[in-house]
Amino acid sequence: MTSALDLLKRRIAASGPVTVAEFMRIALAEQGTGYYATRDPLGGAGDFITAPEISQMFGELLGLWCVDSWERAGAPDPFLLVELGPGRGTLMADALRAAKVRRPFLSAMRLHLVEISRPLRALQEQRLGAFHPLWHDDLTTLPDGPALIVGNEFLDALPIHQFQMTERGWRERGVDLVNDTLAWTLLPPGPQLALLQAAHKRAKPDEIAEVCPAALSIASTVGARMAEEGIAALFIDYGPADSAVGESLQAVKAHRFCDPLAEIGAADLTGHVDFAAVANAAREAGARTHGALAQATFLETLGIRTRAALLSAKASEADRSAIAQAMTRLIDPRQMGSLFKALAISHPDLQELAGFP
Ligand code: SAH
Repeated sequence: MTSALDLLKRRIAASGPVTVAEFMRIALAEQGTGYYATRDPLGGAGDFITAPEISQMFGELLGLWCVDSWERAGAPDPFLLVELGPGRGTLMADALRAAKVRRPFLSAMRLHLVEISRPLRALQEQRLGAFHPLWHDDLTTLPDGPALIVGNEFLDALPIHQFQMTERGWRERGVDLVNDTLAWTLLPPGPQLALLQAAHKRAKPDEIAEVCPAALSIASTVGARMAEEGIAALFIDYGPADSAVGESLQAVKAHRFCDPLAEIGAADLTGHVDFAAVANAAREAGARTHGALAQATFLETLGIRTRAALLSAKASEADRSAIAQAMTRLIDPRQMGSLFKALAISHPDLQELAGFP
């Protein structure tokens, strides 16, 4: 069977070095061989763990955020409830359980899941089959209509282009094959340099800037959709609040960082999300944006402390300490509290949304 590494090597041998973005796409998303396409990467026994896998409180609070946003938008019936990159379906299962507080929300919602991974689609079917979800490879096949869209650790998996400053200006970084081994290279200057935004123009030699056209295009699609048909989208991911020069591409396998060129198709690859650029793309498409703000602020404003206290009141002592630990992990600034950000994109008339003080 062809592996992602074979595929990448053949591509480079046939047509020369590839961009970092194409390298990421082949390593992660290529059907049949890519990292996401072939496995369930999540959880303690997997490669990395995400907020909904840490605690049910995360999905529950997001579910209540969805119900609240839907009501602020006049409770449209029907509406689309969309999750981008739902992983094991844990977030949505917790969200829909919490949403039982408003039965009309559940009867009005039509569940749509955007997911490239066949193994993860199978897990999502197990968790969410009772809600009759429809799956999509990307956002282009979603039906029209008002929508609530959520994506946790989705944007960070999208391919990034990297540019490196040299004595003669910016050059795009790529991956080449040297003596049958993968190696970083600089690609010849070309029109792709236009991807770099003005904000990135000043840098010192060797500094690296990143651009994620896939994330910007999704932000623009979601922004236009919100402006025309309404309700709101929520993206939670990690990255700085302001666009910054710097390299963020990282590979993670079995909860440890590894060399991005060493485990092609067998390690997760991510980049930091440029929230300022994502928000800007959504506003340019006509939507209103809220945040990005620290995950800790978002979850605390939504009442994670109250939720933890309620769960603890009914729990055993061991469970109480697990609940406290999980909450700390989600909101402590040294853990996920401050590097992770929440950004909402809404119809321009929705001036306030829960969680965004
Ligand atoms: N949201 C989940 C999973 C995060 S991992 C959680 O928080 O636990 C990233 C998810 O996005 C996986 O489900 C992965 O298969 C999916 N994914 C990655 N790239 C994608 C793409 N280009 N299109 C659609 N889904 C993608």
